Amino acid sequence: MDFAKEEIYEKMGISREVYDFSEKIWNSLKERFEQIDAVSEYNQLKVIGAMQKNKVSEACLLGTTGYGYNDLGRDTLEAVYADIFHTEDALVRPQITCGTHALALALMSNLRPGDELLSPVGKPYDTLEEVIGIRDSKGSLKEYGISYKQVDLLPDGGFDFEGIKNAINEKTKLVTIQRSKGYQTRPTLSVARIGELISYIKNIKPDVICMVDNCYGEFTETREPSDVGADLVVGSLIKNPGGGLAPIGGYLAGKKECIENAAYRLTSPGLGKEVGASLQALNPFYQGLFLAPSVTANALKSAVFAANIYEKLGFFVVPDGKESRHDIIQAVTFGTPEGVIAFCQGIQQAAAVDGHVTPEPWDMPGYDSPVIMAAGAFVSGSSIELSADGPIKPPYAVYFQGGLTWQHGKFGIMKTLQKLVEKGITAADFSKILEEIEE
Ligand SMILES: *Cc1c(COP(=O)(O)O)cnc(C)c1O
Repeated sequence: MDFAKEEIYEKMGISREVYDFSEKIWNSLKERFEQIDAVSEYNQLKVIGAMQKNKVSEACLLGTTGYGYNDLGRDTLEAVYADIFHTEDALVRPQITCGTHALALALMSNLRPGDELLSPVGKPYDTLEEVIGIRDSKGSLKEYGISYKQVDLLPDGGFDFEGIKNAINEKTKLVTIQRSKGYQTRPTLSVARIGELISYIKNIKPDVICMVDNCYGEFTETREPSDVGADLVVGSLIKNPGGGLAPIGGYLAGKKECIENAAYRLTSPGLGKEVGASLQALNPFYQGLFLAPSVTANALKSAVFAANIYEKLGFFVVPDGKESRHDIIQAVTFGTPEGVIAFCQGIQQAAAVDGHVTPEPWDMPGYDSPVIMAAGAFVSGSSIELSADGPIKPPYAVYFQGGLTWQHGKFGIMKTLQKLVEKGITAADFSKILEEIEE
């Protein structure tokens, strides 16, 4: 190299000590990063192949207004999604406002009064509690006479097969399986484990609909849950598959009948997929999807890097530095409010947008403790972009995800470490740890 990389880092507020430590950790991860790149390469070709097969053309990028009849770009994009997920059909729309909406749509359109919903992997994501009616809410499934059963994972993270068998009954119509751990401590499910669970359930009741909440999991592996028997996969476009460009949106991919039910619910009985103008959303939907495999890889690298940095410094990290990854979320437990706050402030200081603001904990509606959030996002709320948040309560863990580029993710994590060092939260002797790594 004919330039000194450490100089630009110094200019950006990273001390020599933090720089050297980070470079060493990064150097130890080369092999791991090669594996992530290989998955991304596979998925990149999968996406391009699906676009070519469906003859995506310049006309597809234009969008429509009004009713949106014969929206070529919208219909083609849905065919592209169906090919990527190897499903019969898909629904990909800007009218789907977020991941929770996509999941609620899938549930409310495929369940009828008297049916029962089963979660065999424990409590679902927080926002679904009101959709299901675990916490009372207007318009919940419960209000419509749809009941809910839950079987928790075993203490070791395994499936409670006996409990699941006992929970399935003549009313069980749909099984919801959340791939990502979300903000819980259970392990994220690999596609292989999801496949194992689905085949067990289908053996007991072949006609049950198996739906997977795929949020944060897309493109982390070469296969998706729909490749191992899921009838329906659902996610958000301001996470992985939007590639950081989609400004809104959600998707469902699955069996023709499941998608048709969802389309009739989203628009209207009789209209279904035929209406829904795509306005100006298609161009970023297509380009974001094209970028998604590599953006997801960048987020994965950032998470692996964070895990290895903080693990070496003696903090508890989930997943750990070596584990295989099936989503992009990284948890680091600091054990003190100061640690959580310093980490989030470091992430914010690395942002290209709003890098000058200082996040502070606040009492967010719906949470039982103050929460601190860091995000300098081009798309508001996008969590495929570099972001972090943590509730200010024991065990004082922070959840970190995203990074549209690996270089940004790396810088963000270095900034968090710099903050922790400056505040005296980690007094680790870096050179001593480095010596240990060398051995
Ligand atoms: C983000 C997320 C959701 C909800 O998505 P929103 O876009 O925030 O509504 C649901 N399930 C999981 C696992 C998620 O990560």
